[in-house]
Order: sequence, then C-alpha cells, then structure tokens
Amino acid sequence: MDKERAKQVQAAVCEAAKKLASSNLVVGTWGNISARLDDDYMVVTPSGMKYETLRPEDMVVVNMHDLTYEGSLKPTVETPMHARILLERPEIGAVVHTHSTYALVMAAAHKPIPPICDDQVQILGGEVRVARYTLPGTGDMAEAVTEALKGRMGALIANHGAVACGRNLDEALVAATVLEKAAQVYIGTQAVGGGVELSPEDIAFMYDFFMNKYGQR
Ligand SMILES: [Zn+2]
Repeated sequence: MDKERAKQVQAAVCEAAKKLASSNLVVGTWGNISARLDDDYMVVTPSGMKYETLRPEDMVVVNMHDLTYEGSLKPTVETPMHARILLERPEIGAVVHTHSTYALVMAAAHKPIPPICDDQVQILGGEVRVARYTLPGTGDMAEAVTEALKGRMGALIANHGAVACGRNLDEALVAATVLEKAAQVYIGTQAVGGGVELSPEDIAFMYDFFMNKYGQR
C-alpha cells in the first residue's frame, strides 16, 4: 500500500464525511463513506464518531478481502457492504451510505424508485431497486445490496436506507443527493396521479452521456 496515497484518500474521505454531515441526508452519525485506495485496500469512516470532530487520521484503512484494519479506531459496522461493492465493481471509486428520509420511506415500503427524473437516470443509471431485507452489517446485506446495484450507481436497502456510488467521492455525494431527491419526487407524484417513466432508450442514452461524455475534457 502507498502510504502517501493512503493519507490523501483519508483526507478526502474526512472532507466528504463533513460535507455529508452538513447535508440533510444524515442524522447524527448514521451515514458512512468509503473510497478505494488500490486493488486491495479502501478507506472508510470510523464507527459511531461525531462527524464534526473527525480528523483525516481517524479514517480507517481496511483490507477489502479480509476486512482487517490498522489503528485503534474501528471501521463502520457497514464495512462488509462497502468492501463487497468496491471489489465487485471496479469502476466504482467511492460509496456513500445513508438512512435519508425519503429513500427510507421507499425502502421501508419495499418499493423501487421508477425511472422518472432525468438526473436520476443520468447519475444512477435507471430504476433504483430495493435490496431484500437482511440484518445490517452482515455479509448477507453486502450480497443483497451488490445484487440490487447491478448496472446502477444507487440502490435502496429494505427497511434500512440507501447506498449511492460514484467514480469518485464527489460523484458519490451527488448520487446520494439525487437518489434522495428522486425518492421525494416519486412520492410527490403520487398526489398528482403518478410519475411518467422514461423510456429504456432515453435512459441508456442519458446514462452513457453522463458516464462517457459529460463535463470538461
Ligand atoms: Zn446503515
């Protein structure tokens, strides 16, 4: 492991955790973040700490294969899920997990978020599926969430919350915000007769555009 790169990623995860804490996506310490370090290691937020007082060195370097870690702080209890996603999806560089309110309304109802918003399909890849119910922090949850994430950058977790991914931390934070907003919009459309789904062709076009052509090159 490159120690210098580890320090950089720890600083980036710490900064992202503070941004997440000041968003409306988490209450208290109920959210966690990971970022890929290399093929074997990731950096994750520590378990149960106040985000306001986090320091870069508090971010835990974890071996994704056996979940061992260095240092005195324990990684988030949801470490198995972060590791499994990063191992199975090489294009994903960062994962944000929250229990944000509208996402949790959908997750508690075991209802997917249909593809009804342009930004939702651009950034998350389409319908946001619900991972089957599993106990938090288990390998079973890691497996269920990875399954629900197939071909997507976001998923709901039954009775629990949501997970959002990106190629980097900034994208993962945006994905978490877009997922929460899509859930809120979908719930809102129920009052006016329901949302209208985008076509698979338009979804594929917009997702490809975001992943391959969007932004300054
Ligand atoms: Zn959770």
